[in-house]
Amino acid sequence: MTRVGRLRRITGPIAEVALEAPVGVMEAVFVGDAHLAAEVISLDGDRATLQIYEETAGLRPGEPVEGTGAPLSVTIAPGIVGATVDGIQRPLGVGDAGPYLVPGATSTDAERAWPFTPTVAVGDAVDGGAVVGTVPETPSVTFSVLVPPDAKGTVTSVAPAGDVRHDDVVAQVRTDAGDERDVTVAQRWPVRTPRPFAARLEADRPMITGQRVLDTFFPIARGGSASLPGPFGAGKTVLQHSLAKGSDADVIVYVGCGERGNEMAQVLREFPELEDPRTGRPLMDRTILVANTSNMPVAAREASIYTGVTLAEAYRDMGHHVALMADSTSRWAEALREIAGRLEEMPAEEGYPAYLPSRLAAFYERAGRVTTLAGAEGSVTLIGAVSPPGGDFTEPVTQHTQRFTRAFWALDRDLASARHYPAVRWQGSYSFYEDAVAPWWREATGVDWRDLRRRAGDLLEEDARLERMVRLVGAEALPDRQRWALLLADLLKEGVLRQNALHPIDASCAPAKQVRLVRLVVELYEAGLEAIRSGVAWLRLREAVDVAALGRLKEAVPDDESERIDDARDDAVAAVAAVRRAAEAARAEREGVAT
Ligand code: ADP
Ligand code: MG
Repeated sequence: MTRVGRLRRITGPIAEVALEAPVGVMEAVFVGDAHLAAEVISLDGDRATLQIYEETAGLRPGEPVEGTGAPLSVTIAPGIVGATVDGIQRPLGVGDAGPYLVPGATSTDAERAWPFTPTVAVGDAVDGGAVVGTVPETPSVTFSVLVPPDAKGTVTSVAPAGDVRHDDVVAQVRTDAGDERDVTVAQRWPVRTPRPFAARLEADRPMITGQRVLDTFFPIARGGSASLPGPFGAGKTVLQHSLAKGSDADVIVYVGCGERGNEMAQVLREFPELEDPRTGRPLMDRTILVANTSNMPVAAREASIYTGVTLAEAYRDMGHHVALMADSTSRWAEALREIAGRLEEMPAEEGYPAYLPSRLAAFYERAGRVTTLAGAEGSVTLIGAVSPPGGDFTEPVTQHTQRFTRAFWALDRDLASARHYPAVRWQGSYSFYEDAVAPWWREATGVDWRDLRRRAGDLLEEDARLERMVRLVGAEALPDRQRWALLLADLLKEGVLRQNALHPIDASCAPAKQVRLVRLVVELYEAGLEAIRSGVAWLRLREAVDVAALGRLKEAVPDDESERIDDARDDAVAAVAAVRRAAEAARAEREGVAT
């Protein structure tokens, strides 16, 4: 580290430096006697402007600034999974009011010994990004030590199996250019630079979230992106937590960005006690928490999104499927706005800087399912909550996020106040991944998923149309087949779409169970329509089938017993058919008597 200048002026998280030595734009620097972390955000002759990632209250003009010669970077090393860090990857503890910095701790435990197994031998030709060895980081996640992307060459030495620490050199590579490069366990990567990969793959495999309304109606693909806008209190945070707990990703990166400290404290206390439903292992064995709550410095909040996505890419490059949830990207955009304001930049829409759309686009572009440089498959799936002020979806952050993401999960105030959770609006939400993931669903569940969804979608549409008529003329005035449609649409909403985040069985739902529940509703609906066409009154059908009990199957039947839902469906459809046959027989008799 070298001294590069002295502070001239400090305004909040922004400071101006009189330079005595050159620095680079985006270079990480340390500010003042207190050594505060900061980043150069612009240069103008012998002046540099910094954004400072820590509380600047005690800082005075004249204090020294030191350069690091490198851009703001994260450390990629075993020990990250299971850890909780702030926006610039420093370790956090948890108190009642929220997370706090752990003084003096390094971001990952550099002194800890990890059991290393080499996967290359001396003389092997390796590409940049190739795996030289692995470390069991947690029982759920294998950490791979990779050749730096620009160090393609030949292995000249490799560490034997045994304990290694972060700074240990576990392999050396002679590059094709003739340089000798050390491959260390811990490596650094600049957060604002996407990590390279070999090829982008089509996003045609769903990421199962365990939320029926999402997986069945608005699916997201592995490597896809989704926005989750909703007014205050609509359930964005609860849903993001559910996704972090229930999604079938190998690694979860949860970025708590500018939200209340006590919410993040709840995550920090709750997650370590939860089990991963798929593996039975502690949830933290596959989770990385990045927290920059509303009471923490605003510049680090701006960085937290990049720290999170860079860590996600790092695990993708080890061949994992990673999902990142950010709550809330609106607070991130507000940090951008605040910093731009301090810099006296020309504001654009609603005071946000003109580069808001390009920053959002650049973030969501980092989603993808790829072939890694090592030839494996990995993915980064990005889900961003958006908190539009007043719930107004026409505001810039919601609008631009919608443009750059391919699934749109709109949370609805009315559904939330009716306590219909998750309050995802079924009209107005969408997913562009539907067609791409349909073959997977068909293969995995053996049913024509596309057709099943269409039939369920038709019922919801019919319901929306009828609701207007019910408001005008009352339900009693409707013909029997429409009364039946209303009843079965209620079953679809109550028994399928609505999902209780706090219920031990219902909190997360496997694909097979989802399909069975939807199939039950549409087949019962269609059997009922047929009966009504044969002259059966809808009230007779309601007596023959315990619809309310069917609505409780989601909570009564666990994932691994979901065939029981098919039994219930068969019974219900058979009961309807029996009523129909009885009606037909009675009619035949009447007509027989009449002739
Ligand atoms: P937002 O983040 O959109 O402001 P929250 O996620 O904090 O909203 O949700 C607000 C409240 O709504 C929660 O404290 C909880 O009481 C209720 N809630 C939201 N989602 C659910 C859910 N899936 N199941 C049960 N209650 C929910
Ligand atoms: Mg919230």
